[in-house]
Amino acid sequence: MTGTSRGDAVLVLNAGSSSLKFTLFDADHGTLRECVRGQVEGFGATLRFKARFADGRPEVSVDGGLPGASSDRVPHHASEALDGLWRWVEAQLQGRRLVGVGHRVVHGGTAFSAPVRVDRPTLAALQQLVSLAPLHQPHNLGPIERLLTEQPALPQVACFDTAFHRTQPVVAELFALPRQFYDEGIRRYGFHGLSYEFVATRLRDCAPQAFAGRTVVAHLGNGVSMCALHAGRSVASTMGFTALDGCPMGTRTGSLDPGVVLHLARERGMSLDAIEDLLYKRSGLLGLSGVSHDMRALESSEAPGAALAIEYFVYRLAREVGSLAVAMGGLDALVFTAGIGENSPRIRAAVCERLAWLGLTLDANANAGAQVAAGSGAAVRISASDSRLEAWRVPTDEELVIARHTLDLLGRSSPKHSG
Ligand code: AMP
Repeated sequence: MTGTSRGDAVLVLNAGSSSLKFTLFDADHGTLRECVRGQVEGFGATLRFKARFADGRPEVSVDGGLPGASSDRVPHHASEALDGLWRWVEAQLQGRRLVGVGHRVVHGGTAFSAPVRVDRPTLAALQQLVSLAPLHQPHNLGPIERLLTEQPALPQVACFDTAFHRTQPVVAELFALPRQFYDEGIRRYGFHGLSYEFVATRLRDCAPQAFAGRTVVAHLGNGVSMCALHAGRSVASTMGFTALDGCPMGTRTGSLDPGVVLHLARERGMSLDAIEDLLYKRSGLLGLSGVSHDMRALESSEAPGAALAIEYFVYRLAREVGSLAVAMGGLDALVFTAGIGENSPRIRAAVCERLAWLGLTLDANANAGAQVAAGSGAAVRISASDSRLEAWRVPTDEELVIARHTLDLLGRSSPKHSG
């Protein structure tokens, strides 16, 4: 990291239970340009490393370890994998100076409604929130703690999946529990906020009418949620206290009558751990289809369960759009993003078809052709020119949002960012 500096660089880390994703950005003169992104996965088992360069150099893919590292010590957590990854990332800097690291942190609770620079007291405050997201928060915080110890002078910024939703009115955050529970933090937080923030910014540039109006953004990836954006601000979302609520997902249930949980515990004697495993890892598209959690596999499967899982998925998505439209008092646009939303013309068409009565007419060619533009990252309008409701496909980029916030908090960003 020493030597003549060609410019600044920012590293973004997204640490989960089984993978550590990273993106390195060139931040020369405050303008962000992606250099390389990839991930280390398979903690505690067979480690796999992948990295894709933005300049077209061949992808790096290593099974059984990290490039250039001995494979005899397998990391069990993201924080352990960070050591090896750090060496690899340093080698990619090539004269640039790493000015900061931005982290995706799932939960900011009620206290963190914006990105924050992390010092020891802030980390302690974030650790207090582990009970709100026990499956994610500890993994997100592990690398932050590691870097605070090993690189205390390196600025770190935490960006929260919940923060974007803190503009919601109280009525959207409440559960109908006794009021004291809300005051104690049992409330709807909403997630995928970094993705919604990116999409809102993109809409402002590409689809100003959708940005200014009442828009539902459907983040359809392995995790699935929707957000009601009114003039670019979150006013309601489908995910609630945890990332389990709302729409069905790859392996998560989405909304479920809480009475089912009581029944499973009382009548079937299921333990809390077994119920958690069922709701988070064995339900959703996987549970319904009995085939896969992966939409690509379901779309190409002949199994009746696959068709049923897709039908349920689309049905629930369309119902949630209706609910969010009511929260905004109407609907002007629908936006699809994330793995399924960006890449599945079939799911987009099926959802839009169920919303035809609201005045949504798809342009079938634009919907099918949106794939062609996929690599460009461009927003594509997929509704017909005479459709009352606009529909868009907008590729998301949570890492770019994190990098922007990191530069902003370090006071290094120029007004214009690429990407
Ligand atoms: P994400 O979590 O955003 O990476 O999204 C993962 C989901 O996107 C998985 O269900 C994938 O099957 C789905 N996906 C990715 N590419 C396609 C595609 N071409 N067609 C349908 N689904 C896709």
